[in-house]
Amino acid sequence: MTNKASDYLNASGRIVIKLGSALFFDGANNFNQQWLKSFCQDVLLLKKQNKEIIIVASGAINFGLRILNKDRDDHDLNLLQAAASIGQIELIGAFKSIFDDADIPTAQVLLTSDDCDNRRRHLNSLNTISKLIIENAIPIINENDTVATEEIKFGDNDRLAAKVAQMISADVLVLFSNIKGLCLIEDGKLIEDKIISEINKIDQNIENLVLAQKTKGSAGGMKTKIDAAKIATQSGVHMIIADGRSEYPLSTLLNGGECTLFKANTTPLRAKKQWILSAINIKGEVRIDEGAWQALNNGKSLLPSGILDCSGSFEKGAIINIMKDDGQIIARGITSFSISDLKKIKGQKTSAIHSILGFVANSEVIHRDNLAIIG
Ligand code: GLU
Repeated sequence: MTNKASDYLNASGRIVIKLGSALFFDGANNFNQQWLKSFCQDVLLLKKQNKEIIIVASGAINFGLRILNKDRDDHDLNLLQAAASIGQIELIGAFKSIFDDADIPTAQVLLTSDDCDNRRRHLNSLNTISKLIIENAIPIINENDTVATEEIKFGDNDRLAAKVAQMISADVLVLFSNIKGLCLIEDGKLIEDKIISEINKIDQNIENLVLAQKTKGSAGGMKTKIDAAKIATQSGVHMIIADGRSEYPLSTLLNGGECTLFKANTTPLRAKKQWILSAINIKGEVRIDEGAWQALNNGKSLLPSGILDCSGSFEKGAIINIMKDDGQIIARGITSFSISDLKKIKGQKTSAIHSILGFVANSEVIHRDNLAIIG
């Protein structure tokens, strides 16, 4: 049997998978190592098919509380933060011991929602995760609970996972938890066994369903999952909610397992270019020569050698305008360099960046994926 979700997963190159805290433990609150092994085996299988897998894992607090021998008290945020810093080592260690056996490096990435929103940190995080993928490592992301409490208070990393999927232009985001999907309501009653398999648009009917499921108390986490679905689908990322409790949850999904698929009606790249074009806070501009303009038109990135001049006040990650020598604004993009660094490298060959700045993070001033031509 197949479902639409499995078609989308099969067609995806880059997949973000979020694991809810509850999945790591059995009913007696023991670490469910066998389950994690089965999940990781699924991940390794997808990696063999050349899919890029990024995991967002909750569970640090639960691991930490077990070590501290304390019960969860949602009013004591500091305790939860401290538990997270203890438990995060266990959480990552659990993945590492499994991926080590497959010779795959495990990478810990701690992020906050702000890191995805702030342009400079967004670009830094994106570059790091992209490099980890190139190096064949598996990035395992969690909220940096020492400095942020958003997802501890409300969310269990659902929205963070959607922001990560948006940031790295994933094709699909899978949210595995103990929720099967969004249930149907018939004659005013919630039918928990009837899961909506496909949602094309999050309209008022869907919002009402979410409210009903929250009131009933049977699916407390649905609100943040819908928030996540909005972030994901608006960014061109399809999102799947599925029950991850059984072993081999990804195989189950790929074999037609029950789930709710939220379809995006754009692609991540188109959504990103649209976002760049609609930006209102433009911090500066670069003037480029005819050769660079030809290159941009042929889908290439903007290199320092083609830049005649630059002006404004901006940091790495800002959106800036690109204009021709005659002053006509022809494109817009996210700069990988601040104005002060750009002034030093403009007109120079890429190979000279290191000796001028003392470091090389990016050789492109604006990468082609971060650039939109004004049509
Ligand atoms: N970052 C938290 C963790 O890893 C999120 C889950 C929670 O709120 O318990 O535990």
